[in-house]
Amino acid sequence: MEELLANLRPDRVPAAMGGAILDASYAATEPDLIARLHQLNLPILIDPQSLRFAHPRFLATRALTELPYAPPAALESDISRADIQRLVLGALKFQDRFAPAMYVVPALPFDKPLGVGAEIYRRIHETAAEFNGSEVRRRPLLAIAPPGTQVLRSPYALLGRLANLGYSAIYMQPLEFDPRRDSVERLASYITFMRCAAEYELPVFAGRVGAFGLPLLALGAHAFDSGLMQREGFSLSSLQRTPSAKSKKSGGGRRRSVYFPLFMMSIPASDARRLLRTRSLKSRFVCNLGKCRFDHQAQWEEAKSHFMHSRIHEVNSIKNAPTQEMKLETVARLLVSGIEHADASNRVLEAAGVPTIKAEHLRRWLAVLQRVAGRRHGWKLAS
Ligand SMILES: [Zn+2]
Repeated sequence: MEELLANLRPDRVPAAMGGAILDASYAATEPDLIARLHQLNLPILIDPQSLRFAHPRFLATRALTELPYAPPAALESDISRADIQRLVLGALKFQDRFAPAMYVVPALPFDKPLGVGAEIYRRIHETAAEFNGSEVRRRPLLAIAPPGTQVLRSPYALLGRLANLGYSAIYMQPLEFDPRRDSVERLASYITFMRCAAEYELPVFAGRVGAFGLPLLALGAHAFDSGLMQREGFSLSSLQRTPSAKSKKSGGGRRRSVYFPLFMMSIPASDARRLLRTRSLKSRFVCNLGKCRFDHQAQWEEAKSHFMHSRIHEVNSIKNAPTQEMKLETVARLLVSGIEHADASNRVLEAAGVPTIKAEHLRRWLAVLQRVAGRRHGWKLAS
């Protein structure tokens, strides 16, 4: 991130880059980065990481226990009024130090439409609204919306509990969400949730959605969290797993990847090099933006800046479409052409006997768009 910001001038910050959302534990250790963001006039939001406090596993993570508002034990359904006040006040005071654009109010997982968890959610948000402007400097309030599967399908259970408290927006973060693997059904529920938020006049910041943010933007999301090629999904339960189980699963080691706008996903750097060196495919993927224009190797050698200019370009193409209908057309066109390119590339890869690109999410995303936007024609694939 420092690297990306290093070359920016305050008067040259792309409009598509709306700001930065940082984990509280990260913000606490990166004062220079925060200063740089302020210098560039980029709004800052701090994720208080409070969802982690619902499970004792957080006690094993020092970055979390060192947060000044970390509770001494997991916060469960017997949470007291004093615990809520301590959590909320601590999290808001902590964020205030960084002069954020809004306070991100801490939340605990909301996994049942009714019952204690739902009541706690309401009480936390009432408390934050009360403290804002009295115990801490007044700032707009952003509520984290962390629905479990059942609540994702009953949005009013959550949104109704924020009603009339003066919240400015929600940060949407389902407890389990992986846009590249989730079903059409689940992706459609997410969109329905987002549309219900509009009825409460709550703009949606979509958390950790990867390129699925592009269809969301066309469907009315206010902004989405791009995740710098990481965190294109979220799983609270995997964050809560024992560290040993987790490292076994990921196999350890950092995997380098390269963003492919055509596929709306990042692929391993080794696959990217192979595609970009295959004569019959190369022309499909060559990037004409930024440094990549002069040096196609920059696509994998400077993968983060390639990701950033690609993403800015994608977001602009949607934001610049004047009507919602045209925004939807733009995304649908991107998806249709992505599917065609993936199929064509895979025919070449298959013939060469090498592993193919898994881009099935593009078909699911197109199906979701067709379902929620009620379109049956015009976005059909050629085949
Ligand atoms: Zn590029």
